[in-house]
Amino acid sequence: MIVKVLGCDGGVAPGFKATSFLIDGQLLIDVGSVADSISIAEQSMIDYILISHAHLDHTGQLAFICDNCFGMRDRPFATYAHRPVLKAVKEHLFNDVIWPDFSKIPSKEDPTLEFHSFEAEEKLELGDYEIIPVPVNHDGGAVGYIVIKETKALVFTLDTGATERIWEVAKDYNVVGIFTEVSFPNRMKKVAELSYHFTPEMFKKEVSKMPQDVPLFVSHLKPNFNAELCQEIRDLGLPDVTILRSDSSIFSF
Ligand SMILES: [Zn+2]
Ligand SMILES: [Zn+2]
Repeated sequence: MIVKVLGCDGGVAPGFKATSFLIDGQLLIDVGSVADSISIAEQSMIDYILISHAHLDHTGQLAFICDNCFGMRDRPFATYAHRPVLKAVKEHLFNDVIWPDFSKIPSKEDPTLEFHSFEAEEKLELGDYEIIPVPVNHDGGAVGYIVIKETKALVFTLDTGATERIWEVAKDYNVVGIFTEVSFPNRMKKVAELSYHFTPEMFKKEVSKMPQDVPLFVSHLKPNFNAELCQEIRDLGLPDVTILRSDSSIFSF
């Protein structure tokens, strides 16, 4: 699997983009930044879209990728989310008020977007991929995803605070990379706990629950604390930790 980091920050500012990971050019995890990161031709090649939770930094550009690509594809973007998350996205984003309902545009028979909901831990077979969505500790029915192709698995927690189940499920697979988050500096532990995110110290505790000796990729640093967070993460002294940047970096597994 080839993972392209289109966006990986915990906010949006010059040089900082919200979360979107593109796998093999065809499977998109979260839609924080795709519309302004790759060409419209590349956007139109995406077959599957997985949403972790309804927060705007993970869903906002679903609006713009539909606008960019409608009429260009011979089938809809197959878009998957946990049932409560999908309900929120349909009610609060694609509601014909904030944005047109692209599951009926250009027509109900031939739409730009096709929504699919799933239940927690319901396995999805999407092309060459097996996907296991596992609830994590964040708002509104948030899930992380275990993405399996052939013999290898990648874990994407997306936004979460301290969590358990995804690490239990991951133990059954050959995990070759873990993409997770650190959002707030150590001095903001209370804010991190209230908003279900990690500080570097909380992340270090979490690492002990994860499959061991697996490369870790850290995302979702809040742009206004970026330098402080980078330093605190480096100070943890953990081996094999990469702090991601929203620079279209590519990682092969
Ligand atoms: Zn969130
Ligand atoms: Zn977020």
